[in-house]
Amino acid sequence: MKSINQHTTFKVEEIRKDFPILSRKVNGKPLVYFDNAATSQTPQIVIDAIVNYYSNYNANIHRGVHTLSQEATDAYEQARQKIQAHFNAKSSHEIILTSGTTHAINLVANGFSSILKQEDEVLVSALEHHSNIVPWQMLCEQTGAILKVIPMNQEGELVITEYDKLLSKNTKLVFVNHISNALGTINPIEDIINKAHKVGAAVLVDGAQACPHITPDVQALDVDFYVASAHKMCGPTGIGMLYGKSRWLNKLPPYQGGGEMIEEVTFKKTTYADLPYKFEAGTPNICGGIAFGVAIDYMNAIGFDAIASYENKLLNYATKKLLEIEGLKIYGTSKNKTSVISFNIEGIHPYDIGTIVDKLGIAVRTGHHCAQPIMDFYDIPGTVRASFSFYNTKEEIDALVEAVKKAKTMLS
Ligand SMILES: *Cc1c(COP(=O)(O)O)cnc(C)c1O
Repeated sequence: MKSINQHTTFKVEEIRKDFPILSRKVNGKPLVYFDNAATSQTPQIVIDAIVNYYSNYNANIHRGVHTLSQEATDAYEQARQKIQAHFNAKSSHEIILTSGTTHAINLVANGFSSILKQEDEVLVSALEHHSNIVPWQMLCEQTGAILKVIPMNQEGELVITEYDKLLSKNTKLVFVNHISNALGTINPIEDIINKAHKVGAAVLVDGAQACPHITPDVQALDVDFYVASAHKMCGPTGIGMLYGKSRWLNKLPPYQGGGEMIEEVTFKKTTYADLPYKFEAGTPNICGGIAFGVAIDYMNAIGFDAIASYENKLLNYATKKLLEIEGLKIYGTSKNKTSVISFNIEGIHPYDIGTIVDKLGIAVRTGHHCAQPIMDFYDIPGTVRASFSFYNTKEEIDALVEAVKKAKTMLS
């Protein structure tokens, strides 16, 4: 296998060579991929790791004495340790490998169904992805707990003074995303966590949108649960992680029953395996876990500081250029935001813009971005969302601006 290129200085043209998909054409035009907030592209090194696994050591893990099984187990557990180190968890057994963010949130929500009581309160932010809303609504229906919403303002920021008012001794859980996928807002999670802890509430942070841009330190944040998906940070789909403090993970009941998660099974009684296996029933996504570890290595080799500073330049450039188009409005104008631009042009449906720019090879997302409450807040059906990654360029942004201008001419 090729080893990871060390990109000692940030040269986007060099980085782009790591991604085979970036040289393909769409509708006869070079692909411009601006749907990174939905899923990121995959570097060759991660593709190689997947091919290598299935070509050379595909086997089930943890229970085989044979060589292949041991190799697969070692690689999978090393990946867990990489994830632990990356997020600075105290112990690798605090890292549960899940199928993604959604699975991780459901695991925690399900666990709290045996802890929450009627009249307990749980707080959700107005900026959430549906996957950080629906599981908690289901939980509240089951337990009789009350769901309250931390409101947002026109800039797309949470109103922290309102959060302060919502917190009370009845608050048991707060869940909030680190960065909004629809608007790009970076939420003040340190403050949110500290304040929740003062009233004895636990906090789950949805980091799906943050992890492609920054490295969260779960111990420094003192967060109770932190969740992410590999496919938004150069890894494959179908794998992600839940970080939980041991204290919490020991307290929560298992999510699913099956193989791997047991210590001893008789028809009278089953005892559960220790962490992390208690939460990992069945054969996991072994290859995905290994590839997740490689994706983390890849991004770290480029460096998250370099990534953030480059993406910030793209964000500023694109914001300026897009705002030159008359009638274009950007939703989510916080000073603290990542490289996501959600916009509309007056009188034009976002879907129509998306369709025309796709004809020109440009992939953007249109719709509510799994965050319908945000769209309702702005009283719009959806937006066009362009989300930039470290492998995008200013020239690609120019192409987007030209394409949007063309769409505007055609549609108005
Ligand atoms: C993408 C995303 C999710 C859902 O992630 P899955 O990989 O689909 O489970 C949840 N929250 C945010 C903020 C996201 O961006």
